[in-house]
Amino acid sequence: ANPPVTYLMRDGELVEYADANLHVLSTTLKYGVGVFEGFRAYWSEDDNELYAFRVADHMRRLVDSMRVVEIDGPQDIEMLSEQLLSLVRANNLRSNLHMRAQVFVDSSDGKPDDTGPATVFMAAIPMNNYFGASGLDVQISSWARLSDRSMPPRIKSIANYQNGRLALLESRRNGYDAALLLTEDGHVAEGAGYNVFMVRQGKLCTPPATESILEGITRDSVLHLARTELGLDVDLRPIDRTELYSADEIFVCGSAAEVNHVTSVDRTPIGNGTAGELTRRIQDLYQKAVLGRAAADQNWALPVYAG
Ligand code: PMP
Repeated sequence: ANPPVTYLMRDGELVEYADANLHVLSTTLKYGVGVFEGFRAYWSEDDNELYAFRVADHMRRLVDSMRVVEIDGPQDIEMLSEQLLSLVRANNLRSNLHMRAQVFVDSSDGKPDDTGPATVFMAAIPMNNYFGASGLDVQISSWARLSDRSMPPRIKSIANYQNGRLALLESRRNGYDAALLLTEDGHVAEGAGYNVFMVRQGKLCTPPATESILEGITRDSVLHLARTELGLDVDLRPIDRTELYSADEIFVCGSAAEVNHVTSVDRTPIGNGTAGELTRRIQDLYQKAVLGRAAADQNWALPVYAG
């Protein structure tokens, strides 16, 4: 098969797609020692420009992730950000993209306490929608979201992802589009790759960062947009499962998932099947923000070619 792009990046150097390899005996493959980031860039026909969204914030979380799982990798956020942009330019990509930065431990004798040598791979690949259909039928998973007593949910450690994968597979087997996981205490945590918000009794709510969630950057963007552009007072509080059943609106959000509404939870319909009013306003604001067009612009959207 043809590679989707010509170049990937390894430790700041361009490598041919087929040459971005990791040894089978690496610590990463044996013990799941690795951290990563997933970002997006959006092509604007109007501006003839590509905008990469919150690259430095993602790289900051990558560095944070390395600290938590003890990988001795690069810490220079500006350098990492520039490397990613230079990879996009090297491939001359001019479409919507999904981008990744992955830090692996490539030591061939694979000991559990290896903290290096770290290898940083980056990829930028054309991508449009993550979810095929818009509107998700979700199942509350029988798997609990991993807790901070056993694994670090707030960062992007690759080992965490078996948790969401099991929940996703279970939900697909049962005929749903996606899964939401509860905390060990039975509160709503998040989905396999996205945070969750609900509108209930007129109030926008999402679980706080201490509820076993990944500290999502899209979640943070939504919070900022809802507060500054819509003047909303968002409730960060634990959410019960049954509150979801009686919510007016529910949406999930993530860099890849963007802002997508939930049409049912455990077959209980939410709203009328289309995105609710507040969800639509937030979707609209988010779409503006990724192109640098939100009024409360935070310099989140980085022009890739003009700069
Ligand atoms: N939760 C999990 C478990 C995720 O993997 C992701 C995707 N990174 C998210 C939430 C959403 O995070 P972000 O908005 O930073 O992409």
